Amino acid sequence: MLVAKSNDQFVNAFNANKREEYYCPECGEQLILKKGKCKVAHFAHGVNSKCQLQKGESYEHLLGKQQIFEWARQNNWYPELEVYISSLKQRADVLLNVQGRQVAIEFQCSPLSLIDLQERTRGYEKLGIKCYWFLGSPYELKIHQRQTQKFIQLLNNRYRLIFWNIKSAAIKIENATIWEQRLNLRQINKNYRTLHQLISLPETKMNFLRNGLPLICHQRLRGIQVTKHPEIYWRYLVCRKLADIPLFTSFSQTSWIKMLRKVEASEWVIFPCLPPMILINTYLRLFTGQLIRCGIIVRRKKRIILVKYPRSSRSLAEQEQEVQKLLSGYQ
Ligand SMILES: [Zn+2]
Repeated sequence: MLVAKSNDQFVNAFNANKREEYYCPECGEQLILKKGKCKVAHFAHGVNSKCQLQKGESYEHLLGKQQIFEWARQNNWYPELEVYISSLKQRADVLLNVQGRQVAIEFQCSPLSLIDLQERTRGYEKLGIKCYWFLGSPYELKIHQRQTQKFIQLLNNRYRLIFWNIKSAAIKIENATIWEQRLNLRQINKNYRTLHQLISLPETKMNFLRNGLPLICHQRLRGIQVTKHPEIYWRYLVCRKLADIPLFTSFSQTSWIKMLRKVEASEWVIFPCLPPMILINTYLRLFTGQLIRCGIIVRRKKRIILVKYPRSSRSLAEQEQEVQKLLSGYQ
């Protein structure tokens, strides 16, 4: 930890000296000041302490917090280190005051479960504190994995991952979004007008069609994965759902998106640092665009009309078998 109590004052280890006595703000035990040339100045409990703050922090976490504190100070955000928030029963790594608004920064270097992340983010929200998650180096190596992507946040209305790099003592912001692959169905259809033509393509080019699922199942979106299972599985479920809807049924934009959201609702990945479903809705809008481009639905006067069923070269039973194979391979 970086902050201890001395004579009823909070003192940053950086400014502390070994002549004074320092105490834990949580348990009141006397602390040991650790300060050396190759260490980040910090306080530690005695080895036998049972205090919950006793757990060792990594070098990266200690140094990062100190750096973020300094960075915020230079930006005139009135930072405070390791602020205990009693109603949350937790400590914010750095608490700022940005133009009158309280902002918490959590510098995350160790694994954090989805449930804990959800709880902490909601806790801050309830208190009206905006929380930003800064990720440390272990996450930087796994930027495309779900354990990192659950930290996606909105910054100026864009999906971002925020990193703090202790080597450069600087913030690094990464884009995190969903986008369309260049190869789209319109391009495919221009050259190969029928599914039969597509299937007879050389394997290296179009081997994805071997499983016989409708073409739209294969039109992936790239970037963040929003479905728990392979995206193709969710798309297959949509095809099944559409097959039960009479042709020329028309939907308002809202009821259309709602209908899509309900297709296997448990399939969606949760992003605790974002407003609920916002990223999923982005995905569904892009997916709707793909359905329009391959002629399954049309948009007329702000309504969406189903005009064609997704087609497949195989029977439903065969498709189902393929999907099960696909799922078992995934788990
Ligand atoms: Zn303690």
